[in-house]
Amino acid sequence: MSKCIPIKNGILCIAEPYFRCPHCDKFFVDYNDIRLNRINKNKSLYTKVRCVKCGKKFYLTYDIKGDFVTWK
Ligand SMILES: [Zn+2]
Repeated sequence: MSKCIPIKNGILCIAEPYFRCPHCDKFFVDYNDIRLNRINKNKSLYTKVRCVKCGKKFYLTYDIKGDFVTWK
């Protein structure tokens, strides 16, 4: 979820670096933009993540607002 703040010329949205495992709902925080940088390095603009809780892999990208999006 991004936080949106009304400013003079519109709305400013700040992306929060959180996402959840689509398998077990484990909550992740992307400290230091490590995963964000991995997404940006990939030409397809997504990265694969292995969940530390359930061990399953899922895909991670971000939407136009900068929020993380995950899928199986
Ligand atoms: Zn998981």
